Amino acid sequence: MSGGNISIFVPHIGCPNMCSFCNQRTISGETNAPTAESVREVCEFALKQAKSPQTMQIAFFGGSFTAIDREYMTELLEAASGFVSDNGFSGIRISTRPDAINEEILGILMHYGVRAIELGAQSMNDEVLLANDRGHSAEDVRRASALIKSFGFELGLQIMTGLYKSTPDIDLDTMREVIRIKPDTVRIYPTVILNGTKLGELYQSGEYKTVSFDDMVKLCAKMLLEFRKNGIKVIRCGLHASDNVSGEQVGGFYHPAFKELCESEVYKSLIKAQLPDDFKGSATVLVADDCISKALGHKKSNAEYFSRRGVSLNVKGDGALDKYQCRIITQET
Ligand code: SF4
Repeated sequence: MSGGNISIFVPHIGCPNMCSFCNQRTISGETNAPTAESVREVCEFALKQAKSPQTMQIAFFGGSFTAIDREYMTELLEAASGFVSDNGFSGIRISTRPDAINEEILGILMHYGVRAIELGAQSMNDEVLLANDRGHSAEDVRRASALIKSFGFELGLQIMTGLYKSTPDIDLDTMREVIRIKPDTVRIYPTVILNGTKLGELYQSGEYKTVSFDDMVKLCAKMLLEFRKNGIKVIRCGLHASDNVSGEQVGGFYHPAFKELCESEVYKSLIKAQLPDDFKGSATVLVADDCISKALGHKKSNAEYFSRRGVSLNVKGDGALDKYQCRIITQET
């Protein structure tokens, strides 16, 4: 799938509780729940605009899709499924809570043409899940993931870094657990602390302290690299650029180009690992053809970093290399 999604937000209505970080209306930028009619309108419009609908999916995001009223859920699915065909969109994807998955629900999703299911796992540490009022356990994530895979759906896991009561080590444990589960895709969301949430209150009272922005970038860069090594595709890293989010943010980690910052960090660490600390001179860095700007860094930050160390970087494409790989040819001065 490469053409993107038609996103339809189903805000908060399916949630049995309110997670510590969630201000649903702010995150989705929408307050109105969709109707079957509005789903048809959105799909019809998108189908007219789409150049290759077969590469696109209809995505119900933003809430706990399988926890909403059953009749309403099937109405929305029915409306969307009318647009999934050989000449239409390739399928439907949904995101939901791990404790809102069972065999009966998966049977319904299968019937209406759902292809991919994303679970909001957030953390694989029960204390962190409890402290953030998630209302489910790590075991729920393992159980739901296994069930989803056994039905043949594409599995996506969403994780959050920097949650209340978490640490970088705990977040890395979550990453390792996720790798063991082997989802098809992962989304990494560094916690953004929003107004009107429990986290917002804890942060403003001083009870919830976060690591620095740079440390969070380093942590997520490590995750990008590890997921890649393990053949798991990271389809998002950082919340979507949204004025609503930045206007409501009181802390945490939001940057409109967060993934780019992390990828810069990946290449910086790869280059550092191959250059002796005291090296001065020019370094020709070979990377995958489409990764030249990533290796140079966000706004050329890596080129500037190494220049301050007395190293002149010359980055070139090499078709034999894969993403997050590099080879360095040095010439001392
Ligand atoms: S389950 Fe998702 S939508 Fe519901 S309160 Fe938690 S974060 Fe928000």
